[in-house]
Amino acid sequence: MQIKKVAVIGAGTMGNGIAQVFAMSGYEVVMIDTNIEALGRGTQNIIKNTDRMVAKGTLTEALRDAALKNITTSPALDSCKDMDLVVEAATENVDIKLSIFKKLDEICKPETILASNTSSISITKIGAATKRADKVIGMHFMNPVPLMKLVELIRGYATSDACVSEILACTQTLGKTPVEVNDYPGFVANRILMPMINEAIATLHEGVAGVSEIDTVMKLGMAHPMGPLQLADFIGLDVCLAILRVLHDGFGNPKYAPSPLLVNMVTAGYLGVKTGEGFYKYTAGSKELVVAGRFAKS
Ligand code: NAD
Repeated sequence: MQIKKVAVIGAGTMGNGIAQVFAMSGYEVVMIDTNIEALGRGTQNIIKNTDRMVAKGTLTEALRDAALKNITTSPALDSCKDMDLVVEAATENVDIKLSIFKKLDEICKPETILASNTSSISITKIGAATKRADKVIGMHFMNPVPLMKLVELIRGYATSDACVSEILACTQTLGKTPVEVNDYPGFVANRILMPMINEAIATLHEGVAGVSEIDTVMKLGMAHPMGPLQLADFIGLDVCLAILRVLHDGFGNPKYAPSPLLVNMVTAGYLGVKTGEGFYKYTAGSKELVVAGRFAKS
């Protein structure tokens, strides 16, 4: 099957980026979100991003116009009916994802491939909610999608070789680098990244060093572009906690237990960039990195 029509479910942080990269590569895209406001925000984000690329000279006006023309939006899952590929990027919640895949299985053509952008939920479990587990795969894009090259391709227990090859080839047409991995908790990216972030939070909590010191050690010492605490704020502390819980439950190993400081911050609603404060404080319009008051040195 040649993939031409793609549905992206969810117009949030990841969904609008995924819709943008497919549209820029010539696919017909429908971006679906049950929340009409999220659809509007997602569309505006795509327009803003592609305009910025034109201003920087990395995209021509003609290609931007063609990409925008390739995207339609819909609040209804039924719009997936004629699609060749569906990429689900809805909220990271197992019940939401299982119900979406059950419905997709009923309404999509038998040959449609169903992919999930989940950060941590088992692809095998999602596949088992359908009658086409051989055509269910993880397509884990990185944030921000238009800039990040990697797509982690997760092969569920029942995913077929044909499905993996088709999605490998499709990912390459987006200008991305696919890396195939097996379906175990956290896959590869988050299994390695989240324990590092959790350890950075524990290091802060134990008073070994402050926020800036920890991030500077990791940036300058390990050549990471961003320290682990800043990265945690960027990903969202609630997302980090959810992934650590999947690792902890999935492996039953106490080494993945989330730091109590992370749990407290999430419970109190300090989620990082999206709420304006995590380990750093974020002020709209300012690019300066300011350590949050409670972690600032007196
Ligand atoms: P988000 O909260 O920004 O967006 C999720 C969107 O899904 C919302 O707009 C919501 O209205 C919509 N939605 C919820 N239920 C729906 C339904 N039944 N049908 C259609 N739309 C529905 O979340 P996000 O950060 O974009 O994450 C989406 C997925 O991508 C998650 O599985 C997450 O784990 C994964 N992911 C996130 C990141 C990241 O850095 N944020 C990175 C990689 C993968």
